[in-house]
Amino acid sequence: MVKSPAAECLYCRSKTWKPLYLEVIDRLGFVSGTWDFFQCQTCQSAQLFPLPLQEKLANFYPPVYSFSKQLTEGSQKKSMLLNTLSNLEYRCYYRPIYRSQARRIKKTWKKNHKSNDNPRLLDMGCGRGLRMQALSEEGFKVEGLDFQPHLTEQPSPLELNIQYADATTTQLPWPDQTFDIITAFFLLEHVPDVRAVLRSVRRLLKPGGLFFATIPLIDSLQAKWWKDRWIHITEAPRHLSLPSRKGLKLVCKTMGFQETTIQADSILEEAGVAASSLLPQASITDVYGNRKVTSLMRRLFGASSLLITFNFCFLTSILFRSPGHGFLCTRKS
Ligand SMILES: [Zn+2]
Repeated sequence: MVKSPAAECLYCRSKTWKPLYLEVIDRLGFVSGTWDFFQCQTCQSAQLFPLPLQEKLANFYPPVYSFSKQLTEGSQKKSMLLNTLSNLEYRCYYRPIYRSQARRIKKTWKKNHKSNDNPRLLDMGCGRGLRMQALSEEGFKVEGLDFQPHLTEQPSPLELNIQYADATTTQLPWPDQTFDIITAFFLLEHVPDVRAVLRSVRRLLKPGGLFFATIPLIDSLQAKWWKDRWIHITEAPRHLSLPSRKGLKLVCKTMGFQETTIQADSILEEAGVAASSLLPQASITDVYGNRKVTSLMRRLFGASSLLITFNFCFLTSILFRSPGHGFLCTRKS
């Protein structure tokens, strides 16, 4: 008999749970042990129980976790083959995604604020700042925040203004009402206190400022299709929660935001995630971190499977209006 959590839902504060996926194993094999996801019976968001301790979270991330442009610039002395492949991956996959997200934010901003042409923007969970570069190209004055200080050991070649701090803390190094826009790309699912992040966002935004976030949605067709093989589930214990659309809208409303919309994020990015759900071993960690030939072959196969998964994601996200990744836009009231 599995004991139900006594903890609050990070999104709606309900305490009524049912087991969702039990004994989940880290897809990267980096963190040992098994992890249990429970589903909130009020808003249907999913959450790990028990939540790992805050001070342990940084240890869950391998040195090579997310895609980094440094891989394309030879700073880690990778082989010429890996450099060529990672450069190709950046140009054909990551850069088009980042540019489309940046253009979308600019379009929404311009629709709402015609007078301010160079709004000040903070990217929370910015990593080494690849999205910041795309946002900067659209004319935003961009600053970044990330909680992984080890990234400073390999400083970004992009000359970007990045601070290292926990987004949930009240000690962030900016005064109240500093930013016009705050973005958080795939951050909220990694934090143990979603409300604390939204509190920081609200404090740092100017009145009427916009908050944009991308996040995997547990009530999507993709999540229902893949079940416990969905890569956002097997990202435990780095993924601590996965909201439903209802949960996400509720938490925004209760934390003082209004006009919340959740649309489909980049289909290309979702297709990449679907391909990774098919081939979990084709991860960046395996390919660019450890130089395993079999992982490289899997990643190439995963890249070619994008042709299939893109069509699947287009159907589920656009035609059936059930995106696996939500693109959240909300306004400080
Ligand atoms: Zn809930």
